[in-house]
Amino acid sequence: MIAGVLFGILASKLGWQTFVADWIKPFGTIFISLLKLIAIPLILASLIKGISDLKDISKFKDMGLRTIFMYIITTIIAITIGLTIVNVIQPGEYVSSETVAELTQSFKGDAEKKVMSATNQKNKGPLQFVVDMVPQNIFGAASDNGNMLQVIFFAIFLGISMLLVKDEQSAPLKSFFDSLNDVILKMVDLIMLIAPVAVFALLASLVAETTNPDLFKALGWYAFSVVLGLIIMIAVYITAVVLFTGKRPGFFLKGISPAQLLAFSTSSSAATLPVTMERVEEHLGVEKEVTSFVLPVGATINMDGTSLYQAVAAVFICQALDFDLTFSDQITIVLTALLASIGSAAVPGAGMVMLVIVLESLGLPAESLAIGLALIFAVDRPLDMCRTVVNVTGDATVAMVVGNSLGRLGEPHVENWDDVKENF
Ligand code: ASP
Repeated sequence: MIAGVLFGILASKLGWQTFVADWIKPFGTIFISLLKLIAIPLILASLIKGISDLKDISKFKDMGLRTIFMYIITTIIAITIGLTIVNVIQPGEYVSSETVAELTQSFKGDAEKKVMSATNQKNKGPLQFVVDMVPQNIFGAASDNGNMLQVIFFAIFLGISMLLVKDEQSAPLKSFFDSLNDVILKMVDLIMLIAPVAVFALLASLVAETTNPDLFKALGWYAFSVVLGLIIMIAVYITAVVLFTGKRPGFFLKGISPAQLLAFSTSSSAATLPVTMERVEEHLGVEKEVTSFVLPVGATINMDGTSLYQAVAAVFICQALDFDLTFSDQITIVLTALLASIGSAAVPGAGMVMLVIVLESLGLPAESLAIGLALIFAVDRPLDMCRTVVNVTGDATVAMVVGNSLGRLGEPHVENWDDVKENF
């Protein structure tokens, strides 16, 4: 990562952007494609295996309720932290009207595209998200990585049905998914062999493509507020792990850090999912029955980092545009950021699209929406990288806490890396 950043800085100083785009970036792109390639088969195999291993449907209900409860609580904590910080630091007060004009000028086009994508999402009825969760065709759903919730729905449905038939009836299907699951986890190991090169490529091309670092300074207090909130959120997770599972902070951070680094490099919880699952299972010791449900669902709906960012960004924009917020507006932010983070896809930049919905619920006039997004556009990618780290860490924390509460948190069973490399 560090080498990639340094190389990216060098490349932009020496004007090598085209070289980086042609010869370095593709390795990063291939790596992300490989991770996405196995995401859907992994969710299908592990979720079906995980649920059908439970033996008893009431255990699934128990786990499901605990998981959803924890996801909602952690997201509300994240939003509250974000709101507190942005109200104390007031980053919007540091932005002059010239900066607003300059940023609007530079990023209005990009911002309008985001507003448009949000409008498409919003013109649907209130129950549309439930309707969207149920696929009409599993092959159709599985052919698009954007349909993860539909694939999860199918896998849960199939897994539950397998629990309801006799053991001998489900046995062949179960051993098929068991085997698919093991083989896919091996694919994760193999993909991770190229991670160092790929992460170098991702960061080098990202830094080389970055425009006008001066704008970063204008948004310094805003970026600081988001990052501070995210750091506090990580501290909350560590505290939760220590309090509820009795594990040490070092154990947790060491176990999850490769997934965090990957989340940072790819800005996508979905692309990171295979590695998160492997780390939580093998290095943090949470049993497969728990990780296979908690983590894919978390990657799609639990985005604490995104919700914290949405709270800070919404208030920052209102401060910078002199749009006064009342206390009840701040409560509205808690509710809409909760829903908006659930609705955000686990891909780069998705949190910003859903931010439009938070801003609209505050009554920000339509013409100010694009200006508001243009204001924060310049620093969105680095903040996206940081909030994705928090999103992934939050999922891992909940997996540990839920696993422990169900008596399914054991000792790590790390596979030997040398064996993987040697066999390969
Ligand atoms: N990139 C984030 C994720 O995948 C979503 C977002 O906040 O844009 O978790």
